[in-house]
Amino acid sequence: VNTAIDNLHRLAARTTGTLSLAGGLPMASLFPRRLLGLAGLEASLETSGAALQYGWPEGNEELRRWIAGELQRRGAAVAHDDVIVTTGAQQALALTVEVLPEVKRSIAVEPETYPGALDLFQRKTALANDPRYAGVSYVVPGVGNPSGLDLTPFERDSLLSTGRFIIADEAYAELRFDGRVGRPLFADAPTRVFHVGTFSKTLCPGLRIGWLVAPTRFRQALLSAKRAADLQAPTLGQDMIERLLQRLDWSEHLAHARSTYARRVERLMHAVRRHLPGFAFREPEGGYNLFVTSDDPELDELDVLEQATKLGTSFDPGRLFRRDEAPLVFAMRLSSCNVPEESMDEAIRRLARAVSMSRRERRSGPRSRPTRAATP
Ligand code: PMP
Repeated sequence: VNTAIDNLHRLAARTTGTLSLAGGLPMASLFPRRLLGLAGLEASLETSGAALQYGWPEGNEELRRWIAGELQRRGAAVAHDDVIVTTGAQQALALTVEVLPEVKRSIAVEPETYPGALDLFQRKTALANDPRYAGVSYVVPGVGNPSGLDLTPFERDSLLSTGRFIIADEAYAELRFDGRVGRPLFADAPTRVFHVGTFSKTLCPGLRIGWLVAPTRFRQALLSAKRAADLQAPTLGQDMIERLLQRLDWSEHLAHARSTYARRVERLMHAVRRHLPGFAFREPEGGYNLFVTSDDPELDELDVLEQATKLGTSFDPGRLFRRDEAPLVFAMRLSSCNVPEESMDEAIRRLARAVSMSRRERRSGPRSRPTRAATP
């Protein structure tokens, strides 16, 4: 965690009136609060106390059946006993790193990727300098973080053809705007792919329920690691989700989330085109973020973030998504979730002002903060 960025984010979060574009948080208004509340109440009141009791390390069977069913519909031969319910997708990544000996060699990641995975890999293993010699590849297919893009068929085929182990993190995959959630990589290489999923983006992150589907030969090691880590994923959260899924029309829920996010990201893109004309982005295929870059060598992400915080907005600097936080190309991940739709234009206008101020200050005086060198 970068302390300077963290401090600025915390400052923005406690400043009233801030229109924040930072944070990978899903929209709270999409949480099915009433149904979750009822599910929680029912689960707690049940006389057996099952939802408040310890459970198995692999998780509740009914929930595992539901997860396996979703993956089967997408073309993967997954049985409920292949699924391990984890304490969020983050734990699925951590358990995989623990049991996969090839990870120890090194792990290849995309040039920009999910910071939580980078943190984990940097602590537990080494990031590959040359992906050709890595033991394992970590990818965020489906809807990438921060890009919002799927792997192209070519990227997918190249990845599969390396013969390496793959950790496929599908945290956002169900949030494709067009609803065409494709074949999981696991379906094409079940002996080499660790498939990671979560309810954090589609339902809510607070329950901390995710899952892992791994090649069969790793199952016992993973269950031992799971037991050692925290015995099991929270029983109450699993029980609540099981109850919720009986009442909630899941595909309708997803359709609503997708169209809400698609509309918001569209608005965000419109505002960026209007107020930040020199900035570039690729139109996301899903999720709720927009990754915006500039090749202006004068711009510094931390500098702009500092100005933005003063002007009442915030964003995630591109370096958070890169190994060793390398400040390569100036980039910002903008989230469409925490700003009212009608204020999105204003948020980007503030950001544009922050960019101009940062440019002006840099031209008029020497830099006060030394730039960190990019790692080779
Ligand atoms: N993977 C990716 C790509 C993510 O963006 C996130 C959350 N930001 C996670 C994993 C962690 O999700 P969870 O809340 O399920 O641990």
